[in-house]
Amino acid sequence: MRSYTVVFFLLAVHFFLCAQEPQCGMNWLETTESQKGVPVEQIKTSFHGKIDSALESTNSIPELRSEIIVPVVVHIVWHTTEENLSNEQVIEQIAILNQDFNGNNKDLRDVPEEFEPFIARKGIRFCLVTETPEGMSTSGITRHSTDLEVVGIKEELYEIAPAWDSENFLNIWVANTGDFLTGLGTYPGLVPPERQGVIVHPRYFGYNDSFRYNFGRVAVHEIGHYFGLDHIWGTDQNCESDDGVEDTPLQQHSYQSCPAHPQATCGSNDMFMNFMDYVDDRCMLMFTQGQMERMLATIELYRPELLNNDISCLSGEENVCEFNASILPNPVSQQLTVVLSGNVVPDNYLITDCMGKVISKGMVNSQEFSTDVSELPAGVYFLHLADKVNREIYRLIKQ
Ligand SMILES: [Zn+2]
Repeated sequence: MRSYTVVFFLLAVHFFLCAQEPQCGMNWLETTESQKGVPVEQIKTSFHGKIDSALESTNSIPELRSEIIVPVVVHIVWHTTEENLSNEQVIEQIAILNQDFNGNNKDLRDVPEEFEPFIARKGIRFCLVTETPEGMSTSGITRHSTDLEVVGIKEELYEIAPAWDSENFLNIWVANTGDFLTGLGTYPGLVPPERQGVIVHPRYFGYNDSFRYNFGRVAVHEIGHYFGLDHIWGTDQNCESDDGVEDTPLQQHSYQSCPAHPQATCGSNDMFMNFMDYVDDRCMLMFTQGQMERMLATIELYRPELLNNDISCLSGEENVCEFNASILPNPVSQQLTVVLSGNVVPDNYLITDCMGKVISKGMVNSQEFSTDVSELPAGVYFLHLADKVNREIYRLIKQ
């Protein structure tokens, strides 16, 4: 009897570990800091109070500065050679940040109509520094090898790859955070300056081959936390807990995977396609203007030196390649035609369903191609276009 109990227990543990999907490390960070005696709740309450007062005192949307550019240094801390990501991947990630923080991401068109008026279309830009604090020339990327496998959640990280002055630079560490954390971003005031910044698992940095987090949006989400944003459902899974942002609807819980709109809780449709939810990268699409105001207020009040330097840097947008596809018609019932008007042509295309299963694929040899989708069941599908360095994804609806 006892051995059955043990087997059952082991199976239950196995099921729990296997069922747990990797996700943002904010709760892990807060719990870890609390255990060290850091008054996490007090820090967050005080922070939110200051930001609320600042936003109320302006009595209107704070005027966006004409150009907000945050200088970034990326520390790659690697144990396996696959974790030693290329400069190109880093540059791609910076370009992704610039798209997503400014409403320039192509998939923004998939935002449901009812949420379109709230999209933040201008915001924060990021650039890789080209000069070290000592005035030496740099790529904005530092590289460090380590014997530690899961270095991203260890104190040693900051000895192996010390932060550059976190008042003047956004430090992003690309370091293995284990199997259950995709990354983490430090709330203002939550950790000492030498640990302020963002950590992203190398598996999910930039464009990558993971299924859920393949568009570099772990970094987008974690930088949202770094600039003071909470998860869109607040801190607790109920309708009382809010993220403090006026134009995000109350939401009872997080979403995973790629749900279909609408999903309603707390008396209204949920904005699960927000960068601060837990949905897959291909389905998170937007910050709201309210979230952007909060991030800008956080920079003004807590991270002002990020803007007060004249550090030279590159934005990663100098050589933007794009396929710029139009899908005709969409929704489609029979023949799907894809017309390309970008400055490069993809090598191949894939059509997947919402679970990532490949439905069809083929090579792309010209600026227009067609495929028969009449046999597909009705529903939402994704068209992926790719060459060796670029990937774009488009949503299509089969009637
Ligand atoms: Zn998070």
